[in-house]
Amino acid sequence: MKVVVLGAGIVGVTTAYFLGKDGHDVTVIDREPQSARECSYANGGQLSYSHAEPWSNPAMLKKAITWLGKDDAPLLFRFRADYQMWKWALKYVFNSTAAKAQKHLEIILALDLYSRQMMHQIVADTKIEFDYIQQGIIHTFRNPKNLDAEIEIAKIQADLGAPYEKWTVEECVAREPALAHMAKEMCGGAFFPFDESGDVCAFAQNLIAYCQENYGTKILYETIIENMIVNKGSISSIRTNKGEITADAYVVSIGSYSSLLLRKVGIDVPIYPLKGYSISVPVEDEGKTPRLSITNQCERLVYSRLGNVLRVAGTAEMAGYDDSVNAVRVNMLKKAVNDHFPGCGDVEKATEWACLRPSTPDGPPIIGKTKYDNLYLNTGQGSLGWTQCAGSGRIAADIIEGREPEMDISGLIIDRYRC
Ligand SMILES: Cc1cc2nc3c(=O)[nH]c(=O)nc-3n(C[C@H](O)[C@H](O)[C@H](O)COP(=O)(O)OP(=O)(O)OC[C@H]3O[C@@H](n4cnc5c(N)ncnc54)[C@H](O)[C@@H]3O)c2cc1C
Repeated sequence: MKVVVLGAGIVGVTTAYFLGKDGHDVTVIDREPQSARECSYANGGQLSYSHAEPWSNPAMLKKAITWLGKDDAPLLFRFRADYQMWKWALKYVFNSTAAKAQKHLEIILALDLYSRQMMHQIVADTKIEFDYIQQGIIHTFRNPKNLDAEIEIAKIQADLGAPYEKWTVEECVAREPALAHMAKEMCGGAFFPFDESGDVCAFAQNLIAYCQENYGTKILYETIIENMIVNKGSISSIRTNKGEITADAYVVSIGSYSSLLLRKVGIDVPIYPLKGYSISVPVEDEGKTPRLSITNQCERLVYSRLGNVLRVAGTAEMAGYDDSVNAVRVNMLKKAVNDHFPGCGDVEKATEWACLRPSTPDGPPIIGKTKYDNLYLNTGQGSLGWTQCAGSGRIAADIIEGREPEMDISGLIIDRYRC
């Protein structure tokens, strides 16, 4: 079957991989000159399979309200006259009850753990390189109340298959000596041994090259998708700035822009961009730079070691489709590096990046069929697109192939928003 994948971010590329492996004739379309040049370019690098609590939860909602209007808040809501943003925000509030957060955690964790399994399979099959580190992720805490709250969530996750360890400050420093400077303000940590890290951009670019070489996958770069042409309940072609492209089936994986395109053909998906930032600091002193991936739960920042670079990422901002770099927010990241890992590298030499997480208001992504019989979705992975790409790609390929997915997907399909 001829399948067109719309979008060459990490989600589109892994979808193309599984479709190619199934023997389909795959073409990927993207407006950029290379794969993974937008949200999948310089993210936090964490394969955080054990980080399943959705952002729509009672505690986060409470914090988000107290942070309103603060330019340096980890989660910033910029008031705008944007109907889609308000619609998304209302759905976010509606989904932030304890019961809904628990249900969504279970759905997210199931996809995360399946993604871990699929990631290991991809790595074993392709042998691609991407500064992959399989040593777990440590979450650090300053406030004992927050550590206890995290442990409560970790216990629930452990019952569902994702183990954890509670560490004292001394244990944290013994396992990651670069935490020595930060230790004086820490109260302990939670360690998640299943978690991993790696360079999302290198993975996507090496995987698409593997697909081209091994499965004959075609890629149309610098091609802007303008619309989808509907004919009697099906998509007959994709209209681009370079002409029309036809296939038997189409998968939408254009990240935050998925909702804009789908709206043109009468499909309403609640995906809205949540802007985030990263800096990539060249490592100058190995001893002062963490090797273990870290989530600083106090500042809500993540640190990953990618070769000779320390990637620091985080913050979320509802600012529409503006992906420009805001100095206040980037400076928060630079300050955090200087405060916690002084001497690891010169933050003024860091490259800066901002991008838009394709976020759903409940947390899980949207994968599966649509009202058009040959149009499929694999999008909305939000803050976990790197973590979930392998499981999401495999599920999308299963559905297109007409094969029963290996996990329950009722919490991932678009119809969940109808109830
Ligand atoms: C600061 C930050 C840190 C993050 N850290 C992590 C992390 O540590 N771990 C994790 O799991 N996730 C993380 N994420 C989330 C993760 O990066 C995203 O979920 C993921 O990259 C989304 O991938 P995607 O393929 O859906 O979207 P994208 O990577 O944005 O890909 C979409 C593609 O569609 C193309 N496109 C869009 N519109 C059109 C059009 N009209 N025509 C043609 N092409 C089009 C774009 O060029 C792009 O290549 C982070 C995100 C941010 C912002």
